[in-house]
Amino acid sequence: MSSNYKSFISTMATLAKMAPSSLQDLSLPKLRIYRWLHPDQFIQEDFHAVFVDEQVIVGSPTDAERIFSNVVKRNSVAVAGVELGDEGKGRIVDNKLGALLDISGVEMAYVIRSQGGNNAGHSVEKGGQKLALHQVPSGVMYDEAVGIMDKGMVIHPEDLRSEIELAEEVVGDTRGKLILSGDAILVTDLERAEEVFNRKVQDKAAGGTGRGISPAYAHFTDRLENKINDLLADNWREVLGKRYDHYVKKFEAEELSLADTAVPDFMASKKKKAEVVRPVGTKEEFLDRLQNTRTWLIERDMVQNTFLIHQEAYEDLSKGVIFEMAQAAGLDLYNGTRPDVTSSNTVLHGIANGTGFWMPHMIDEKIGVFKATYTSSVGARQMPTEIPLDKSVRGPKDLDLNATTDEQFGAFTREFAHEFGTTTGRPRDILWLDIPFLNYNIQMSGVDVLAATHLDVARKDLKIKICTHYTDFEGNFVPYQPGLEHQQRVVPQYVEVDGWDAEDVRQAKSFDDLPENAKKFLAFVQRRTGVPIVIATTGPDRKNYLELSNQ
Ligand code: GDP
Ligand code: MG
Repeated sequence: MSSNYKSFISTMATLAKMAPSSLQDLSLPKLRIYRWLHPDQFIQEDFHAVFVDEQVIVGSPTDAERIFSNVVKRNSVAVAGVELGDEGKGRIVDNKLGALLDISGVEMAYVIRSQGGNNAGHSVEKGGQKLALHQVPSGVMYDEAVGIMDKGMVIHPEDLRSEIELAEEVVGDTRGKLILSGDAILVTDLERAEEVFNRKVQDKAAGGTGRGISPAYAHFTDRLENKINDLLADNWREVLGKRYDHYVKKFEAEELSLADTAVPDFMASKKKKAEVVRPVGTKEEFLDRLQNTRTWLIERDMVQNTFLIHQEAYEDLSKGVIFEMAQAAGLDLYNGTRPDVTSSNTVLHGIANGTGFWMPHMIDEKIGVFKATYTSSVGARQMPTEIPLDKSVRGPKDLDLNATTDEQFGAFTREFAHEFGTTTGRPRDILWLDIPFLNYNIQMSGVDVLAATHLDVARKDLKIKICTHYTDFEGNFVPYQPGLEHQQRVVPQYVEVDGWDAEDVRQAKSFDDLPENAKKFLAFVQRRTGVPIVIATTGPDRKNYLELSNQ
């Protein structure tokens, strides 16, 4: 060890003086250790070189930990929404995952969800078949990928089972391809009933999805036993039985019946393509349903401690890692359009909390996804750039002759981009691209490049408006501030640019091939955000995807 140690130290001293760029060329397996050391530190501290499986770890354990938390893992990608959701994150993850697996030396990849639950939804496609995923990460579409549903997620096990069974009809057996953290937060029909209760009694939770997400997160903050591991523990029936009793009392105090309270039934809803509800049922019925799913979970052997998996993935360059965020920065619990926000951290720091391992700076490529020509919004929030469009308008044919150009764009977009809720079928709000909002979301989410999706959503004869800044009602400049209250007091100011033909965009094989107006549009947004747009999508299919190379 001692002669090894000496030669190691001298190599270190040489390497530490080299520029990081020339270090890259050496392709050292443990580049981060070499980069961190500085020659002076050899004099000041007594370092230990530890050899583990031919890899070198230097320093005291604390130093080693510090090294660990300061370095980027190559082959790692995070994908987050920077608007109000449904930007197309799922398909970007799908495209990027394919690219990761194509890197030579990468043998498999983890697709990691670290927040949200059944309130998310995105579509990915395989062999022409579309699959809607909610709790399951998109990795199921690839043979070499393993999906992780991590500890920051809220999981309704019965829904998970239904979702996996539906996914398996398209992708085949997923055993061994899906890992659920034992520390993930458990949602049951009780939390779903609680949303109904809150709405009735406290006039709270308006805008919630009814899927129990926000009560489940609240119980986590309350430190109740509501982890997947609590369902797997021997005393689970006792713990959840007591919780049922507690809920009964809470409901009875308001003259409500827990057993009769209707909650969403995911499987039935999927089959009918409409929201179907079922009663929570008696305590025995409630517990028996859970018992069924518990047995299924145990049989599938899906529940694991994910911490060790992260540690190993961080170390091992043959493993790619991709983080798939749900919802979007505009819906972040702390800094989204409060109060109409979701219950988790949708920005990249959500990954740190929700995995207990990955800080954003450890991730190589951080992609913010936005809908290029417009933004869509679901729920009650009123954003300043919303195009006033009646809910009854499903497409241009529903407009009358004196419709404004804004209404024409909104109606075209609703129809062309299918902007209707997946389960409810309700039309979504269509908004003009809002640069102040986008910029704030980019900053808070911690992304460093952008993916512009839906570039095909344009028409040659329709101008596109972009909100460049806000003023007050007297025309004085007003800076962006988070929170709906502020948003409702601003007047958006726009520039108008020429549209282009959707089909021309869809045909493009590279950024250069794009119609001039689409190129100008992207250049404008890039200038106003100051963030490189490296990906553009030109249609919903996997092949409608353009990426600028790193050169
Ligand atoms: P996510 O929640 O961000 O993952 O997005 P969703 O999958 O829920 O919603 C995005 C929708 O837009 C899906 O229906 C996609 O098929 C569709 N989509 C994605 N990219 C494009 C695109 O470039 N053009 C068009 N026209 N549709 C797209
Ligand atoms: Mg979605």
